[in-house]
Amino acid sequence: MFGKGSKLYSIFNSKCPRCHEGDFFKYKLNFNPKKVTELHENCPKCNLKYMMEPSFFFGAMYVNYAIAVALFVAVFIIAKMFIGLSILQSFIAIIVVSLLFTPITLRLSRIIWINFFVSYNKDAEKLQAEK
Ligand SMILES: [Zn+2]
Repeated sequence: MFGKGSKLYSIFNSKCPRCHEGDFFKYKLNFNPKKVTELHENCPKCNLKYMMEPSFFFGAMYVNYAIAVALFVAVFIIAKMFIGLSILQSFIAIIVVSLLFTPITLRLSRIIWINFFVSYNKDAEKLQAEK
């Protein structure tokens, strides 16, 4: 399920959605807000243009929102039910965790978003080589 060829492989390894070979992000996960979401312009392997149209990744905001809500709920349940924090403490935990996870959710939302539109093609690299 997590092997090459599945969308999850692309998402969790930050690989190009088409060839699953090239890197999607320019930099490794970091806390620099400018660098953390910076993408390669094209896939270094199959040359897929990541920014498929202007402001393509605007839509990733919806994905980011969904991830953020899921994260809020998860942190709240863990903090309140399992650790037994008060409501106020649980909200503080939510804020801290979501700040810490921001670089991850931003990146995840982008790569999930592009995976809605681009499917794996095992010949993508070959096609590019023939050009
Ligand atoms: Zn590629």
